[in-house]
Amino acid sequence: MASIDIQAVRKNFGNFPVLRGIDLTIQDGEFIVLVGPSGCGKSTLLRMIAGLEEVSDGEIRIAGKRVNSLAPKDRDIAMVFQSYALYPHMNVAGNMSYSLKLRKTPKEKIASAVRDAAAKLGLDPFLERRPKALSGGQRQRVAMGRAIVRQPKAFLFDEPLSNLDARLREQMRAEIKQLHRSVSATSIYVTHDQIEAMTLADRIVAMHGGVVQQVGAPLELYDRPANLFVAGFIGSPG
Ligand code: ADP
Ligand code: MG
Repeated sequence: MASIDIQAVRKNFGNFPVLRGIDLTIQDGEFIVLVGPSGCGKSTLLRMIAGLEEVSDGEIRIAGKRVNSLAPKDRDIAMVFQSYALYPHMNVAGNMSYSLKLRKTPKEKIASAVRDAAAKLGLDPFLERRPKALSGGQRQRVAMGRAIVRQPKAFLFDEPLSNLDARLREQMRAEIKQLHRSVSATSIYVTHDQIEAMTLADRIVAMHGGVVQQVGAPLELYDRPANLFVAGFIGSPG
């Protein structure tokens, strides 16, 4: 687990300011849901937290360390995307162990990490299968398995369930929450889905126009939205 501290973070693409000063402190073990209209910079913010994109100004610290000062392999952060980006030529076990092999993890450790992750995610029966022989939900579980074997300090989820049908989304939502608890990581989860936001979040962060509009517990935003934007996304009618 790790706290994530985002201070006065700005991001420009060319002359266009996407993020105009984001401040947010995320506690150890917290589950944050990030909401906001398409194009408001949610994915950009996640990529900067993961160290995949430079900030234009400000800083991001994970467990007190500046993200950009850490080598990629030391960042201890896992991202889960909506496109699962699994390796098609590797089976499930191969997909889950790949990042550990890159880190020269001992074989026995890799085997036990994969076993644990597979058990947590109900993937035991599928370890020898290639991704193309899996359902959408199973593929998303493999993507999560690949993330948890590394025992990251933080999980960043970028609309991970948006390709799945409604029933599966509901089931995976419950699994993600449970996973977050069982691996005791800090999570940031981007979604367009109000129900996902309301059920998963310890706190919701509503972004719009390059700034944070409101941060609070789901019911707080629901009952007392700070403005029309938040009300439109999450607030109670009337
Ligand atoms: P969201 O995830 O909230 O939909 P993004 O973070 O993907 O938004 O994008 C925010 C804005 O930044 C968009 O206007 C997008 O076109 C722009 N953008 C994102 N990445 C780049 C890039 N690498 N180069 C130029 N513009 C980008
Ligand atoms: Mg996005």
